[in-house]
Parts: sequence; C-alpha cells; structure tokens
Amino acid sequence: MENKFDIGIVGCGPAGYTAALHAASLGKSVVIFEKDFVGGVCLNKGCIPTKSIIHSSEVYKQTKNCEEFGISAENINLDFSKVVERKNKTVEILRKGLTLAFKNAKITVVNSQAKIINKNLIQSNKEEYICEKIICATGSEPKVVKGLEFDHKFLLSSDDILNLEKLPKSILIIGSGAIGIEWARIFNNFGVDVCVVELAPNLLPLADIDISKRLERSFKTNKIKFYTQTTVTSINNQKVTLSNGEELTPEIVLVAIGRTPSKEDKIEGVTYLGDVSGEIQLAHYAIKQAIKEIDNIEFRKDLTPSVVYGTPEIAWIGKREQELEGQEYKKTTILVSSLGKAHCDSQTDGIIKLLIQQNKIVGAHIMSNEASSLIQQLTIAIQNNIGIEELKKVCYAHPTYSEGIFEALFKI
Ligand SMILES: Cc1cc2nc3c(=O)[nH]c(=O)nc-3n(C[C@H](O)[C@H](O)[C@H](O)COP(=O)(O)OP(=O)(O)OC[C@H]3O[C@@H](n4cnc5c(N)ncnc54)[C@H](O)[C@@H]3O)c2cc1C
Repeated sequence: MENKFDIGIVGCGPAGYTAALHAASLGKSVVIFEKDFVGGVCLNKGCIPTKSIIHSSEVYKQTKNCEEFGISAENINLDFSKVVERKNKTVEILRKGLTLAFKNAKITVVNSQAKIINKNLIQSNKEEYICEKIICATGSEPKVVKGLEFDHKFLLSSDDILNLEKLPKSILIIGSGAIGIEWARIFNNFGVDVCVVELAPNLLPLADIDISKRLERSFKTNKIKFYTQTTVTSINNQKVTLSNGEELTPEIVLVAIGRTPSKEDKIEGVTYLGDVSGEIQLAHYAIKQAIKEIDNIEFRKDLTPSVVYGTPEIAWIGKREQELEGQEYKKTTILVSSLGKAHCDSQTDGIIKLLIQQNKIVGAHIMSNEASSLIQQLTIAIQNNIGIEELKKVCYAHPTYSEGIFEALFKI
C-alpha cells in the first residue's frame, strides 16, 4: 500500500493535533506521528498534569482552613499517591478523548518516531510517507545549563517533578517563570518548605512590575522564601551555594529556567509550528499558529494572554507598565478586596490594573481568583479596539470579579 497523504504532521502536541483535526475537517487526508503519547507536553507533562495537581493542593489547603467557612473536619490526611493517581486519570481521560477525535476524523495516527526527509517525505518505522504538505510540530525540551545538568534524582526537570512518588520535605526552585511559580505554590500548599531563586530583580520577570511585587508579597504571606538577583554558583554533595553566599540543603531542586525548541534541521518547504518554531512557548499560541496555517485565520501574536495558575491566578495581556516609560498613558487599579464576590469566596488578595492610551486599553494585568477567564474579555476589547466609553455601556453581572474591570474603568 502506498502511504500518500495530503498532510503529514510530526509531533502530536497542541500544534500538531490542532493542525491535524482542522485539516481533516476540511476534507484533507492526514497522517500524524507521535513517538510518545498523543497530546504532547501540554497534555502529558505540562499544562494539564500541573493544573490537576494545583487543584488537589488547593483543595488540601482549603480543607485544612475550612473552619473559616463554618465547616469542621478532622484527620485531614494527604495521600500524595492519590494526588498522582487523579492527575494520571485526568490525563488519561483527555488522551482517550483526543484519540477518539482522531478516529472520528479518520486521521491516521502512527505511534512512533518520525523523520522528515524532505518537504514531501517522512520516514517512520522503515516506512515512507509521501505528503503534499508537511508540518513539523516536535515541541521543546527542558533547557539544560552548565552546572545545573539534570541527574533526575536531586536536580530535576519539570518532567521529573511529575514522577515524584512522595513529597519532599524541602525544595529549591531555580527560576520564577510560570512553571517555577506554579510548582512553588503547589509545594507550599502541600506544606513543603519552598525556596525560589531568581536571577532577575523581581519574581515572574515577564509580568507587569506591580504584579511581580504583589506576587512577592503573596509569597511572603505564604512563607515561600525567595531570592531575586541571585544565582546558584555551585552544587556539591546536595549543598547549594547561592551568589549571595547563602548555603541551602534542599531535599530536591527543580530547575525551571525555560525550554529549548527541539533540535530540527530546518527543511525548506516544511512548516514549523508550536514550541519548535522558537516563538511563544504556550499551548494556545501553538493552537493559534496551527489554525492560521490550516484555516488561514489570522491572529494578533502580541495579544497572546499569559496565565499563571494557583491562588490567586495571574493573567495579563498587552503592554506592561515598564514598557510605557516615556509615553503618555493612564493607569487605573482596583483592589480585588473591594469586590463583594472576593469576600464571599475569601479570595481578597489581588489587583486588576488597566493601562490606557487614547481612551483604549493597551494592557491589562490581573492577579485575582478567575484571572484566567477575566483576561479574555480584555483581550477581546483590545483586539477589537473597543474604547473605554463603549466598555462602560456593558452591563456587568453582580457579584462577580468582572465587576472589578467595570469599576476600574470609572476610576480613570
Ligand atoms: C510544566 C509545564 C507547564 C505548562 N503549562 C502551560 C500552561 O498552563 N499553558 C500553556 O499555554 N502552556 C503551558 N506549557 C507549555 C506548553 O506545554 C507548550 O507550549 C505546548 O505543549 C507546545 O505544544 P507543541 O505542539 O509545540 O509541542 P509539544 O506539546 O511539546 O508536543 C510535541 C510532541 O512531538 C513529539 N515528537 C517530538 N519529536 C518527534 C519525532 N521525531 N517523531 C514523533 N514525535 C515526535 C513529542 O513526543 C511531543 O509529544 C507548559 C509546559 C510545561 C513544561
């Protein structure tokens, strides 16, 4: 049988599977290759498993503090193996859903490593696949830096950390991007002693400066130790020395300093989507890239929302205040503690901050319960050039966190 397809895709993460499903819905014949599990890093080692564990850690913390809500509970025990089991089940359900979607769309899935030979030829398992168009969506790997090479026992990557069978007593997290912050919150919720080391002057260096500062306050309140403008200078016999002279002896170290696109020889005529493209390393960015490629639907790359999960969530879109230096702009900020819903939920920590130029929002920075959802309405407003006078006409439901956005508009 000759293996001939309209589209051949290597890598079945968000970029690959979105391209496959959208192409199939347009009537194209599609073959997709995956050497590991369908769903890629996002479903198996990234977005989904971490959010499942975050949720367990939050339920644990809330249950421990449930008296505040008029509930008493005794013998609250944490069985970390069940947390892992739940995470695995969540991933499994979604993997099955994806596999079923492929079956329904009549997509050929080849579960093995593949190599792109030229713009029309893929080799896998000694078979050749001739494709009119080829997409490479092979993702990324945890970044390795000299002196911090993973030994997978003491020095762990974000992949290794998902394989922990029991909680450590203490952890040092190197890097305070989204992955570092989310794991710091998880371990802190579970009662592990957490310390974060960050090279930049503030935690979460890609966020707006006010958000970084509030996060630092939240870390202090939650007794998460952190050092900024600090690096690890040496690690000897599990003793970690920092550039400020401190010596730490954590049980394990998570190195969360970013990811490197998979090494691929760039072949002319092949389309590179997702993390391997070397652009924004986020699942929704990979998905939008794939939709643009297949359905030809444009999107604004500069309006890719960033979200950090945990309590409170953090989300932002558009310009940060530090980028507007020297320009004319207005800013308006609402404390989440001014919102009725926040008090009902006992989730009063956080701010909603909007940056405005020429009566239009150019940046929105939220630290609040539900920030991951709130950011979408602001993304729509910015993308569609909706002015603040128009937004003021919108009827916001009460009591909600969204009201914070509405209130902020009237404070300009
Ligand atoms: C801990 C963690 C948490 C994250 N959380 C979030 C989040 O909350 N939100 C968010 O948007 N992003 C998050 N990300 C980032 C997100 O996971 C990635 O941006 C996304 O998975 C990229 O999708 P992709 O399709 O480019 O590649 P991937 O998801 O990396 O998939 C690539 C696939 O290609 C396969 N592959 C590679 N080479 C070959 C080959 N030669 N043959 C066959 N198969 C091959 C790999 O096995 C892999 O399954 C997180 C990442 C990590 C590590």
